[in-house]
Amino acid sequence: MNSPNAPLNASLNSVDDLIAAGLVAPDQAGDLARVEENFRIRITSEMAGVQSPAVAAQFVPDARELVTRPEELTDPIGDSAHSPTYGLTHRYPDRVILAATHACEVYCRFCFRREVVGEAAALPEPALTAALDYIAKTPAIWEVILTGGDPMSLSPRRIASIMARLSAIPHVQIIRLHTRVPVVAPQRIDDAMIAALRARPTVYVGVHTNHVDELTPAACAALARIADAGFPMVSQTVLLRGVNDDAATLEALFRALLTLRVQPYYLHHCDLAQGTSHFRTTIAAGQAIMAQLRGRMSGMGVPTYVLDIPGGFGKVPIGPDYLERSAQGYMVTDWQGARHIYRDPD
Ligand SMILES: *Cc1c(COP(=O)(O)O)cnc(C)c1O
Ligand code: SF4
Repeated sequence: MNSPNAPLNASLNSVDDLIAAGLVAPDQAGDLARVEENFRIRITSEMAGVQSPAVAAQFVPDARELVTRPEELTDPIGDSAHSPTYGLTHRYPDRVILAATHACEVYCRFCFRREVVGEAAALPEPALTAALDYIAKTPAIWEVILTGGDPMSLSPRRIASIMARLSAIPHVQIIRLHTRVPVVAPQRIDDAMIAALRARPTVYVGVHTNHVDELTPAACAALARIADAGFPMVSQTVLLRGVNDDAATLEALFRALLTLRVQPYYLHHCDLAQGTSHFRTTIAAGQAIMAQLRGRMSGMGVPTYVLDIPGGFGKVPIGPDYLERSAQGYMVTDWQGARHIYRDPD
């Protein structure tokens, strides 16, 4: 097991690294250098070692990222519209997200924060103090969600310090970390990282994963370590064209997650980040996949399909709809598509 200061496995951080690793053809160097000027590149050795087009598509840059469509935005989910202090977003009364760092272990090509990830590392101390002061003086805040970037790219020592400072705020009952680290950099989930997660409030770990091919033996072991330590886990998956946009692929992922003690939580419709149109499906396609999943697998494994409304209006479930008002009351569609009448009591 790693000590906190052991060097982590090397990652690939540039087009040159990708060419040297054989992940990109040399004749793509020109186009991809232009992509690299706009959007950071990083692939961990764990992910670079997986032979899977569905994994490569998420991390290897593509010339199509140079295409920006008019509806695409630099802040697609409007985080900056609800930011009381730098690094903090307070959109819903009972919970805030705290971007503890802008760094990640991988840079996903479809990232909704792709304009800001990697810009600077950890949140500077004065900004962190201001964010914690705001949380402390806002009793309605019941939950603090650590995001980024990826909060688990911080050192265990830094995470432990943030957890201790949040633990001192009595009204914070839940801390949730949203991270890709257990999957993409599983060697980081060592004893020090597990110890850093222990805090007075209840701690949940939200794992971002999009395809069963990401769940390497080391990733499964890292998730088991978190579950064995007693932290409940949920997952977030982004619906991505060509990666996971069919029911069988998502079913395989969600079944694997349930067996790993991770409850599928959200399936995100791909946000309108710049240069990501090649990843986006239609909402109708996403709804059709969700309807198939409902019939095919345990309800525990079926996440809620959500859209983060562009402009900072929050996340909403986007169906499919099973219930329609009708003259007699309601028309309800079952999992096989047959329709039935339901009446409320008078
Ligand atoms: C997604 C998000 C949350 C968390 O939402 P849940 O639906 O509770 O998972 C909180 N704040 C902001 C700003 C968000 O974007
Ligand atoms: S790990 Fe998350 S924040 Fe980081 S690049 Fe991927 S999607 Fe974006």
